[in-house]
Amino acid sequence: MKETYDVIIGGSGIAGSATAMILGKNDLDVLLVEAKTHPRFAIGEGMLPLTAVWMWIVGEYFEIPEIQHVSDANKIVDNITQSCGVKHSVGFAYHEADQPFTGEHAHQLVPPEMPFYKESHLMREHIDHYLVESAADYGVDYVDEMPITDVEINDDDVTVTTTQGTTTAAFFLDATGGNSVLAEKMGYRDETPEIEADTRAIFTHVEGLEPFDDLIDEKDHPGQTNRLHDGTLHHVFEGGWIWVIPFDNFERSTETKASIGLMLDREVYPRDETLTAKEEFYEIIGAYPDIERHLGSVEPVMPWIRTGRLQRSASKSSGHRHMLTNHTYGFVDPLYSQGMVHTFESVFRSANLLLDAFAEDDFAAERFTPIDDLHRRQLETADFLVSNAYKATGEFDLWNAWTQLILVESIFPDLYIQRYCLKYLSSGDVTEFDQLLGVPRPGDDAPFIPEKDALLERCADVLDRHVEGELSAEKAAQVMFEEMRQAEWLPHNFYEWGNTEARHIDGGDPAVTGALLTWGQTEAPAHIQEGLFDFELPEMS
Ligand SMILES: Cc1cc2nc3c(=O)[nH]c(=O)nc-3n(C[C@H](O)[C@H](O)[C@H](O)COP(=O)(O)OP(=O)(O)OC[C@H]3O[C@@H](n4cnc5c(N)ncnc54)[C@H](O)[C@@H]3O)c2cc1C
Repeated sequence: MKETYDVIIGGSGIAGSATAMILGKNDLDVLLVEAKTHPRFAIGEGMLPLTAVWMWIVGEYFEIPEIQHVSDANKIVDNITQSCGVKHSVGFAYHEADQPFTGEHAHQLVPPEMPFYKESHLMREHIDHYLVESAADYGVDYVDEMPITDVEINDDDVTVTTTQGTTTAAFFLDATGGNSVLAEKMGYRDETPEIEADTRAIFTHVEGLEPFDDLIDEKDHPGQTNRLHDGTLHHVFEGGWIWVIPFDNFERSTETKASIGLMLDREVYPRDETLTAKEEFYEIIGAYPDIERHLGSVEPVMPWIRTGRLQRSASKSSGHRHMLTNHTYGFVDPLYSQGMVHTFESVFRSANLLLDAFAEDDFAAERFTPIDDLHRRQLETADFLVSNAYKATGEFDLWNAWTQLILVESIFPDLYIQRYCLKYLSSGDVTEFDQLLGVPRPGDDAPFIPEKDALLERCADVLDRHVEGELSAEKAAQVMFEEMRQAEWLPHNFYEWGNTEARHIDGGDPAVTGALLTWGQTEAPAHIQEGLFDFELPEMS
């Protein structure tokens, strides 16, 4: 550790290490400071197609193959570890208390196979360890077991104090997460999070998980190209849900463990201090016979972790000579696995802002405000989707309707960002991605945004009217399905939005993906054809 650096990064999670590599690659002198030591347990295991896409973009844009390795299950095995699973399906199994599970209450989204990424269930302790070790190859100085205890932002530099001394730098990037010393000191942390969702978690890693597909009747299988076990399965019930993330579901994985975690609405399930975390977990799942059958006999391989309220927010994410990462700034709830999507959107934006600041030797607060806008937009979107999802858990009809809307929310924005990758693969011009920097959050300028947001807002209002007792669950669901049926801008030949029976979608079937592309290039409204389907499929696709 030297006396002075260009940048000090606090926290060597996935965000800190990835940014350190980018800055090191661009000849900045970087110190990465970690409180613990790797390998260490970390949560944030389920990727989405967009997580992989963003890792791929960041790796390609900044020419860091180590980041790109994480975007592909095969590259993970070739370069990092055999401990990760694949995530080639997002499944939701809705349960009613004391009732057996029925396949009528399941949803499964199988995303299309793409040749340039393959999303995983990340064993984060191995991924994070690999990234931090790779940072050294880019000239980054790394110190561990050295918690940051104070950060002083001065006019001409920043002073970072750790348990083992003091160092200065031109800039401080805070990637330490929820317990950020800087966010507290600057008064950024909201005492009460400005977030509607109000949830808590109980989670661990286990051995002995059976695929849910093997435990349920053949007639209850979604019958698609992938099993529910080939991805993240969410058991959903009134006021809560459980993630099931197997690490053994990839033929090249040697891991036998799985991650399971229970998320609870705190109003429905206030924390029961008379029970241990494990006892509380089993008491709650005991009401749902097929969740209990699935998870009742698994063996924990680490202590159960039980949190208080998971949400946090802050009033600011940047200022003179400093920025916070998105996960330091705030967090909502992992229901839709968006955390690492946000992380890599944020890495892409903040690394660009920092490299520009160093190029111009200017660290004034104003130049970093785009990171505030990005993080605020991410948090608001996550809160909107998650808080409404919890409102919809009370009845399957509502859950069914909200989940169909989530398909709108995932398929179109995914395609919009993928479109930049396809354009880049056709042109070979990496500046194609610069357009993603021109709006508060990448995708804000997508052509379908006004229609999509209006549809979701109207349906959220319907859910609120249900919560307030104005509409029955049945009526609220009917209105939401009708909204979707009326949405002429949606490709109803690809997925029958508004049809209560249409719960699954199988992107593994080329005919299904083909239907979307054909619609996009022939029948879609002109602005969607022009602004979303204006790419050519490169040869590799
Ligand atoms: C319960 C839960 C489930 C989640 N599930 C998912 C999921 O399925 N998919 C998904 O995409 N995202 C998920 N997330 C979000 C995901 O965890 C984050 O997006 C991601 O881990 C953020 O990475 P990070 O590097 O910013 O932070 P972290 O991984 O939290 O890293 C912060 C680092 O800073 C270090 N540190 C802390 N304090 C100090 C200090 N004072 N000095 C020095 N170092 C310090 C810590 O030891 C740690 O190494 C989940 C989050 C939670 C809470």
